[in-house]
Formats: sequence, C-alpha cells, structure tokens
Amino acid sequence: MATYDLRDQRILVTGATTGIGRACALLLAANGAEVWINHHRQAEQAGELIDLIRTRGGQVRAAEADVTDPAAVKAMFALACTDGPLDGLVNNAGIILEKPFLATDEQDWQRVMAVDLDAVYRCCRHALEGMQAAGAGSIVNVSSDLGFLGREHYVAYCTAKAGVIGLTRSLAREFAPRVRINAVAPGPIETPMLTAENMSDEWLTRELAIPAERFGKPEEVAAAVAFLLSPAASFFTGQVLGPNGGSWMGG
Ligand code: NAD
Repeated sequence: MATYDLRDQRILVTGATTGIGRACALLLAANGAEVWINHHRQAEQAGELIDLIRTRGGQVRAAEADVTDPAAVKAMFALACTDGPLDGLVNNAGIILEKPFLATDEQDWQRVMAVDLDAVYRCCRHALEGMQAAGAGSIVNVSSDLGFLGREHYVAYCTAKAGVIGLTRSLAREFAPRVRINAVAPGPIETPMLTAENMSDEWLTRELAIPAERFGKPEEVAAAVAFLLSPAASFFTGQVLGPNGGSWMGG
C-alpha cells in the first residue's frame, strides 16, 4: 500500500461509503488525514466505515448530504469547515447511465449532469473559498477514461466526465500556485457501479479487453488520489492521472 504523509490534513470525500470513495477514505485516514465521509442516505454503511477507520486508529467524521442539493452541500461545508478551511477535497460521488442516445430524455441528461458535473462544480466552489483564503489546499476530481474515449450509450456520462477534466484544468490555472487541482480518470474498476445490474454483458466484456486484462481495484485508484493530495505531488496541478490498466494512453 502506498504511503503518503497526510497528517494534519482535513479532507472531505464525496460518495465515500462504497467503491472508490470508500477506498479513498480508508487510505487517506491510514495516512493520517482527518477524513470527512460524505454520503447520501447511507447512514448504516457510513457507520460501519467510521467504526472501521476508528478501529484502525484513524480520525473520521460523517457528512450527510445529497451533492445535488445546493442547501445541503452548503450546510455540509459549513460543518466541515467549522475549525477552518478544508485541506483537501475528493469529488468522487457519481452515477452512470447506459441508454441509447435517442432513448434518453432531458431528465436522464440532467440527472447524470447533476451528480457527475454540477456537484463537482458546487463542491469545488465551496472548498475553494476557504482554500483561497488560507492560501493552500488540494482537490482531486474523479473523472473517467470514458471522458477521453467516449462510449456509445453513455453520452451523458462521458460528457460529464470530460467536463470534469475541463473544470479541473481551468480551476488549476485560476487557483495556482497555492491551491492544486488535479483529477484521476480511472478505467474499469471493481465497484458497485461497474457490477450494477444495468451494465450489459457486452459492455463488461469490452471493459475487460484492455492491456491489463482485468478490472482495477478501488485501492489502485485511491493510491493515485492519496498521492495527488499529498505533499509528494507538490509540482502536480491540472493533471489527470489514469489508473486505467492501459485503457487510455493519451494525455
Ligand atoms: P459507486 O457506485 O460505488 O460509488 C458512487 C458513490 O457516489 C456511491 O457511494 C453513491 O452513493 C454516491 N452518490 C451518488 N449520488 C450521490 C449524491 N447525489 N450525493 C452523494 N453521494 C452520491 O461506484 P464507484 O465506481 O466507486 O464510483 C466512484 C467514482 O468513480 C464515480 O465518480 C465514477 O463515475 C468514477 N469512476 C468509476 C469507474 C468504475 O469502473 N467503477 C471508472 C471510472 C470512473
């Protein structure tokens, strides 16, 4: 397991009770961060994760909020920033939708955009206010290899994830040099999202046809996130790291 020094860092992770978010919460706490785990209506899973982190000697707090709800997000950041601005933020919460483009409607499009892009903007907006004032901070946004590759039947998802990359790079320029903003663009990772019942067999087979010939593990994404948040990545900003098994090798 990669080790990065995150002592004295207060870091909020959205969508932290499952998959990649959960692995991030565990790794960040193991590396010394005080982790705020955001979840939406997953009190039981959040409680289990909090117990696990505390059993391992980590510091953790829960932050319930639907990231698509501006008032809830505002309240969540107010709570998490009671003792000062956040040092780090991981915008991980996401949903996916597989549907032929002409079968989608405005609601499908808005639903995906609301979680996968608008909420990333919203959380960055809140976190950056404090980080700008403090003159320090680090954000990692979770995009996807599909943001580069595109994929039929996933138009809204791919568009939102490409948008996350544009948002990341623009903010990185605007808030440099004091605040660093990067992204990860994972390939297929073994999480509830990938194994969801609405994923077609054809899609899953295609996802396995990557150079690594396997799905990645959430911990393999968390390692990249922890690195980007840590002082070890002090010269990284506006970058997109790809824990993707070679599914995408472009810039
Ligand atoms: P996941 O379904 O386990 O995680 C998504 C999390 O987001 C869940 O905990 C869910 O409860 C939370 N969430 C959804 N809507 C929310 C809302 N409105 N408010 C708060 N939380 C909300 O799947 P995952 O694979 O761990 O996904 C994490 C991120 O990684 C997502 O952004 C996803 O797009 C991205 N990603 C996943 C893969 C993959 O293959 N699994 C590949 C590339 C990118």
